[in-house]
Amino acid sequence: MTDARAIHLADYQPFSHLIEHVALTFHLSPNATRVQARLAVRPNPAREQGLDLRLDGEGLRLVRLAVDGRELTVQPDETGLTIRAADLPDTAFVLETEVEIAPEGNTALEGLYMSRGMYCTQCEAEGFRKITFYPDRPDVMARFRVRVNGDHPVLLSNGNLVDQGPGWTEWDDPWPKPAYLFALVAGDLRAHSATFRTLSGRDVALNIWVRPGDEGRCAYAMDSLIRSMKWDEQVYGREYDLDIFNIVAVDDFNMGAMENKGLNIFNSKFVLASPETATDDDFARIEAIIAHEYFHNWTGNRITCRDWFQLCLKEGLTVYRDQQFTGDMRSHAVKRIEDVLMLRARQFREDQGPLSHAVRPESYVEINNFYTATIYEKGAEVIGMLRRLVGDDGYARALDLYFDRHDGQAATIEDWLCVFQDATGRDMTQFKRWYSEAGTPRLKVSDDFNNDTYTLHFEQENPATPGQPVKGAKVLPIAVGLLNPNGDEVLPTTVLEMTHMRQSFAFEGLATRPVASVLRGFSAPVVLERAVSAEERAFLLAHDTDPFNKWEAGRALAKDLLARMVTEGAAIGPGWLEAMARVAQDGSLDPAFRALCLRLPSEDDMAQTQHAAGHVPDPAGIYAGRRRMGDALARRLAPDLPGLIASLAEPGPFTPDARAAGRRALRLAALSLLSRVDGGTAARAAYRAADNMTEEVGALSCLLDIGQGAEELARFEARWRSDRNVMDKWFALQIAYAAPDRAAEVTQTLTQHPDFDWKNPNRFRSVIGALSGHHAGFHHSSGAGYALVAEWLLRLDPLNPQTAARMSTAFDTWPRYDADRQAMVREALQRMLATDGLSRDLTEMAVRMLGD
Ligand SMILES: [Zn+2]
Repeated sequence: MTDARAIHLADYQPFSHLIEHVALTFHLSPNATRVQARLAVRPNPAREQGLDLRLDGEGLRLVRLAVDGRELTVQPDETGLTIRAADLPDTAFVLETEVEIAPEGNTALEGLYMSRGMYCTQCEAEGFRKITFYPDRPDVMARFRVRVNGDHPVLLSNGNLVDQGPGWTEWDDPWPKPAYLFALVAGDLRAHSATFRTLSGRDVALNIWVRPGDEGRCAYAMDSLIRSMKWDEQVYGREYDLDIFNIVAVDDFNMGAMENKGLNIFNSKFVLASPETATDDDFARIEAIIAHEYFHNWTGNRITCRDWFQLCLKEGLTVYRDQQFTGDMRSHAVKRIEDVLMLRARQFREDQGPLSHAVRPESYVEINNFYTATIYEKGAEVIGMLRRLVGDDGYARALDLYFDRHDGQAATIEDWLCVFQDATGRDMTQFKRWYSEAGTPRLKVSDDFNNDTYTLHFEQENPATPGQPVKGAKVLPIAVGLLNPNGDEVLPTTVLEMTHMRQSFAFEGLATRPVASVLRGFSAPVVLERAVSAEERAFLLAHDTDPFNKWEAGRALAKDLLARMVTEGAAIGPGWLEAMARVAQDGSLDPAFRALCLRLPSEDDMAQTQHAAGHVPDPAGIYAGRRRMGDALARRLAPDLPGLIASLAEPGPFTPDARAAGRRALRLAALSLLSRVDGGTAARAAYRAADNMTEEVGALSCLLDIGQGAEELARFEARWRSDRNVMDKWFALQIAYAAPDRAAEVTQTLTQHPDFDWKNPNRFRSVIGALSGHHAGFHHSSGAGYALVAEWLLRLDPLNPQTAARMSTAFDTWPRYDADRQAMVREALQRMLATDGLSRDLTEMAVRMLGD
């Protein structure tokens, strides 16, 4: 796409000036907040001298501007203001500005805004320019001192609290930071507090700030924070660096959470949890997100990104770190499977369509549109591969060097790869293609056996993506193990390093032809293409020692079967059913792992696979086939389900730990199957008996899945009406389990509900997002799903373009489907583009998705 407003990596220039210190004073008021800024500035010696000073600023009313105390008259334009070089000293100077902003009218939730009476900020990526005039770019790092004046009892900003009085506080952050890490919060809040003693013996005050009444739901988030702090010390040697660490929960938030220095701001959904209101998945997500934002203190804050093209430098690495943490806290096997499920569902999907982009893109129009699965999840996969290639020791040395060398800097992917090169001696030139080239490689595998030698032949294919027709060979770490036909492992996991388009690896001295377990642990983010018989898959499901590949074998069995059902009308034979029955009943396996094995492949996953195999996916056919598989599995397992459910009952009070959560997951998976044969009797009883949200939502889902549960839905609503986070589940569930031909209608009805507060991003996602996540409903042949989602995105766009644009990715799979569906989606996207005043965010997305 060519767009005059596009920003290109190749055009990077350091900023004209350095900002050494920033002093900000806020006088908070809903419609007329005053922001005074005092910047200590000097020309950047790395640039030519005598340059104008350009400051970003949007929607600000400039009240005053002075240089070294001398008032200047400058007329701001749409995106900022320029102070001509002639008006600036050629040495250090002080720039003072005063602006007025209106947080109450800020519905975009970027910059300083209000959420149910409290003030809060979101500055990443470019929100600070809506607060004051400033060089709003990550490579401008400065020390901030902030004074907050306001009526609210709690007034917070970054860094350490250095002074306070009635109606004001003053904060000093000793660590230079870019403006996107600035934060301010003011509200009537209560703290859940604790103390953490760091490795070197310093005490840090920890506070989680919430609305009055929510204090009792912070314990798990606090526990997660303390474990994260400890883990980062133990595993990465990273210690926290301020006297205080604050987390604030906010109801209206575009994203999950934000790592502002010393003052993390969270979507309340990812902080507040009690057994009665949060599911096991919620607890796990809270733990992971608390860890993620905390880990940013080093990977993101102390070392930040030079420009937004380097976003994966902080996000890929921090996602990788939070994945390691969760694996250590819970189960590495289960975590890996869940991460790969997510990678395929979001990132492979993105890579297969018109939005495919590199982990480090070369250009963008609106940076908010690049907070994607590719930057985050593929960015983390790339780091996992680096680690497999250089080994644990090499990785540890490289990371130590990274922290030593780049602390306090705004770094690049080149800097990152250079530390690996310097610490391990490995040349990173070819590996760098993972950062610059988009697309999911396809890895074709064949094998042969001669005398005593078994050979694996690999061929990689790097498909064309928008703007990148031709690509070179990628470095692929391929973890392989070999099993004897009797199930014994003859070659433990070995990492083969593929660097050419075609490559073969031979294993000698084998008495019999082995069974290969390829791409163990999903050692590279590729699509594996290998003709494997159902018998061999069942063998690997039974015997593979690698838990990921064991699960993958069962998954592949299910997908092969579903694909044959949809395309050839195949019947469900006993092979898959017996293999599943063995897993379900294998008490030696972790219940969480068994629950994952019993989960059928998602409809979107099937559509993605069918498209890749050259078929046009039929959403209704996939839906029906998947239902039939679930019914058949339920009938096969029926005699054993009540016993399995009873054996997994947890005596004693609810605990959110991984062991208990895994048992509940398997119990609910079994209950869901049982509901298909007992008419919902067991699920209704489970709903009545539930004393925690996991089982309440789990049993309700079982009933909705078989077209029942109206009474339970009404009871759920009556009980939870005043709890916003719980009610999000109530909205989403009804749509998720609606029959495909009714999904749009159910959604439409829920948009009329008095509690459908569509300006709240969580609520919008739980309704409109639930419809776009309902594969057969969204892609229903009537087009009702497309029309309703498009209509609501257009309604949201003028108020909150960031969320509207992000949710528009619902449409990015359109090239997979038949001509009628393609035409309907193209028409919807073109209608968006024809709308007056469409945001830059949504315009960019629609243009990219249309691919014109
Ligand atoms: Zn992050």
